Amino acid sequence: MTITPLNHHYASILTPEQALLEERDWQELLAASVISAEQLATHLPIDPENVDRVAGAYPMRINPYFLELACRQGAPLQRQVVPCIDELLTADAIPDPLHEEHQSPVEGIIHRYPDRVVFLVSNRCAAYCRFCMRKRRVATGAPIEWPTLQAGIDYIRSATEVTDVILSGGDPLLRTDTQLEWLLAGLHAIPHVTTIRIHSRVPSTLPQRITPALTAILKRFAPLYVNTHFNHAAEVTPQAETACRRLVEAGIPLGCQTVLLRGVNDTPAAMQDLMRRLVAIRVKPYYLHQMDPVAGTAHFRVPIREGLAIMRSLRGHISGMCVPHYMIDLPGGGGKVPLLPDYVREVRKRDMVVENFRGERFTYPLD
Ligand SMILES: *Cc1c(COP(=O)(O)O)cnc(C)c1O
Repeated sequence: MTITPLNHHYASILTPEQALLEERDWQELLAASVISAEQLATHLPIDPENVDRVAGAYPMRINPYFLELACRQGAPLQRQVVPCIDELLTADAIPDPLHEEHQSPVEGIIHRYPDRVVFLVSNRCAAYCRFCMRKRRVATGAPIEWPTLQAGIDYIRSATEVTDVILSGGDPLLRTDTQLEWLLAGLHAIPHVTTIRIHSRVPSTLPQRITPALTAILKRFAPLYVNTHFNHAAEVTPQAETACRRLVEAGIPLGCQTVLLRGVNDTPAAMQDLMRRLVAIRVKPYYLHQMDPVAGTAHFRVPIREGLAIMRSLRGHISGMCVPHYMIDLPGGGGKVPLLPDYVREVRKRDMVVENFRGERFTYPLD
């Protein structure tokens, strides 16, 4: 990767030595990740043969921070990162149900909606989620190289209708500070790009990545939003809170895209707890995603009926700030559609019958 010289804009906040130390910490954690069944078996009771078979198809990576948390917190966290033999079941076996590859004008760009694109800038993560929607291309293959990123920026520059660029992956924040600064500067210089979003799970899986140095870089590219990804209240640790506080204090609004997952957050109590804890650390729940029918993830799917019941358990019962939109993403690249529990029980000539969160019925005029 060709890299433009680093501008030390954050020197006033941290000395370069301090900045380097923080940056090395997250990279050291990442380098010490558990990637083999043999290593994992020293921490958790697993079937090494099965774990190795699955990890051969879909690599495993659990960094020491998340491993320690998962060992302490049990099934809801372990299920997310420990390979499971069910991943090799072939029912529902569509690698790319959302047709992302068909909607890709150049490598790494998904252009589905008129005014915004997803830009895949990394195919590595701080931990590999077993339910990943991009299992087909994350964790494997060569790292994304500079010419691909440059071609993505060139495409966005030529697509003048694009105002919103979503950096995704993999995890964009696994790029180094220098690389991110180069990418963001390239996008920021495009006049029609008015907002940039970074979709990253590191605030929950490797919060040490959110260093003051990184935060100072991100701050320069406002308006920049970070949509993170927490799936269970136990992920909201003091470290995660620090990471989110640093971002918020740099003026970066935080959203959360949670995935509805069997055995992780598929009860009203677990979801309420998670959403409340997110709002308490200034993360606004944005989407609750229904699992896409991606090959190797069927064992995580929760029926829509249950998802709607969980949504019903949120609205009215807890602060409206804690209520995300429940989204399905249509197969074939149709895009995202929100699902709502049905509060309208009956539509009559002049009015309708509406149910409130307690199940009490009221009439409401139609016109
Ligand atoms: C989800 C998604 C977006 C962003 O959708 P929003 O509803 O604006 O958050 C954009 N492009 C693609 C391909 C997506 O899957």
